[in-house]
Amino acid sequence: MLKYSLSDTIAAIATPIGESGIGIVRISGKNALAIADNVFVSNDVKRPSDFKTYTTHYGWIVDSCETTQIIDEVILTVMRSPKSYTKEDIVEINCHGGIVALRRVLGLVLENGCRLAEPGEFTKRAFLNGRIDLAQAEAVLDIIRAKTDSALMIGIEQLKGALSYQINKIGNELLDILSLLEANIDFPEEEISLVDCQDLHQRLDKINKKLKSILEGGRQGRIFREGINLVICGKPNVGKSSLLNALLRQERSIVTPIAGTTRDTIEEVIDIGGIPIKIVDTAGIIEPRDLIEKKAVLRSKRYIELADLVILLFDGSLKISKEDEMLINKLKKKTTLAIINKIDLKQKIDKNRITKTFNPVIEISAKSMKNIKLLEEAIVNLVNTGRLSCSEPILVSNLRHIELIKRTEKLIAQAIDSLDNRLSLEFISQDVKEALFYLDGILGKSFSENLLDKIFSGFCVGK
Ligand code: GDP
Repeated sequence: MLKYSLSDTIAAIATPIGESGIGIVRISGKNALAIADNVFVSNDVKRPSDFKTYTTHYGWIVDSCETTQIIDEVILTVMRSPKSYTKEDIVEINCHGGIVALRRVLGLVLENGCRLAEPGEFTKRAFLNGRIDLAQAEAVLDIIRAKTDSALMIGIEQLKGALSYQINKIGNELLDILSLLEANIDFPEEEISLVDCQDLHQRLDKINKKLKSILEGGRQGRIFREGINLVICGKPNVGKSSLLNALLRQERSIVTPIAGTTRDTIEEVIDIGGIPIKIVDTAGIIEPRDLIEKKAVLRSKRYIELADLVILLFDGSLKISKEDEMLINKLKKKTTLAIINKIDLKQKIDKNRITKTFNPVIEISAKSMKNIKLLEEAIVNLVNTGRLSCSEPILVSNLRHIELIKRTEKLIAQAIDSLDNRLSLEFISQDVKEALFYLDGILGKSFSENLLDKIFSGFCVGK
């Protein structure tokens, strides 16, 4: 049973603390209007509890317990239950955005019979009161935290219910299958089996294909939300730091003509075509000379393993060396963009050797910023054409959802297996039931208090 109570009224400052044009104090719950009646005065004879929903009113917040002192000049908005963010009565007070004014107004509101809201509690109530499901509630946080346009777009789609729609559809189909299976188990004496195994196999298979395609889209969703890990590799002195600087369009890592200056890895995040790209410039050391370099090499290796994309840089003014060959060999199975740098110098490199292994090969000059745009376009192209991910519609980007979909998919696969091996329908029914439980977890049809605490504690107070 849920210990959380919806019966008390909550309040919080909903805007960041600091100096700003306005700051908002938000109140939600059954006493919101009565509390506003106690603290708000205006030239109008009407009080907040008389105001129509979605109307705003000019007035003052006053502390009538003391000396009827005006605390702030405000605009007050009333949003009545059930058509509000939380589905409860909500009052929002637009105050002046100074810390003292906001704290005084909040303090007064709290004294008049409500308690301070916990982080995310307004959204938690929107969920518990049934206005949105859990996936939509999580989308609110994704929208607040979005770092790029694309991440924002995925959050908005999720809030609009795109993921919820698909999950509900799959859930209903599973429920259908489950009732068929249960009927068959409950009435085994029936001569004719109600279950057509071939049909059941097809239906379960279709569900798993859909789950797989949502997961595939999820990979791309993760890219837009969390970004891709890009590692710049190449032997010392090919221009790795120069390329990082060119991409950052600012001096960040030290560029010197002495081989091996970048002793360790340097990380930066940039936005290329709406995709957050986490770039790591590796040490580029191939034969470590000391313990520090040995550690740097190990770290570089780890980064390469984790990378979604590797940029392998060559020095166009030199012939391909043993070190280049080693790197080509190491990276031929990874998604790699081969780049020939220093095209402003006389070219000695055998380009055919590189095109034999990698496609595309891009020629640039990091120093003079030549073709950097082309390189950026190639990165975006890799994402958009699905070489870094797939071109499924992006419905899911949240790791919790991805995990639950994976578990559902595994159970359905197990059910198909049981069906193929002619196991008792009870086994299949058990798997489908469990699969449904995980799927329901995405939308919050089944949840624990701990899960809610974990999700909403990531929110800010006032949301
Ligand atoms: P790293 O060791 O791979 O990180 O290489 P750096 O970025 O430190 O560059 C090594 C040297 O190559 C420096 O002197 C750079 O100025 C030079 N360099 C880098 N890119 C270019 C380029 O496009 N053209 C020319 N001519 N020199 C470059």
